[in-house]
Amino acid sequence: MILAWPGVQQSGGWEAYNLVIHELAHKLDMLNGDANGLPPLHRQMRIDAWASAMQRAYDQLDRILDADPDAETPIDPYAAENPAEFFAVTSEYFFSAPDVLHRAFPEVYAQLADFYRQDPLARLQRLQAEHPDYREPA
Ligand SMILES: [Zn+2]
Repeated sequence: MILAWPGVQQSGGWEAYNLVIHELAHKLDMLNGDANGLPPLHRQMRIDAWASAMQRAYDQLDRILDADPDAETPIDPYAAENPAEFFAVTSEYFFSAPDVLHRAFPEVYAQLADFYRQDPLARLQRLQAEHPDYREPA
């Protein structure tokens, strides 16, 4: 995997932008063939639950952009490019802006929490409780 260094340098904050996570998500997606937004899921996960959560959110984003291509979208409109980008972009949010993703698409957040086997929102909320620097400006 080759990454552009300026993109890596801009990654790693809590700002929903993370090139490393984005490209890794594509790699995970391709473990079972073409990148199509459906990576190999853990055994206890259900493909239909994954597909319906992702599809509903994707369609919702698509509807907003169909109505107005310049609309303010809850997440980066690039996610509406295709299901593979939707998975990669929501993975970025999952790790670097879990609060935004959870607010916009709670079902997608839940699927990604099962997939990545962690809960970054809980981590962020703990940080926000302990360190004023992480709190959102009121
Ligand atoms: Zn991509």
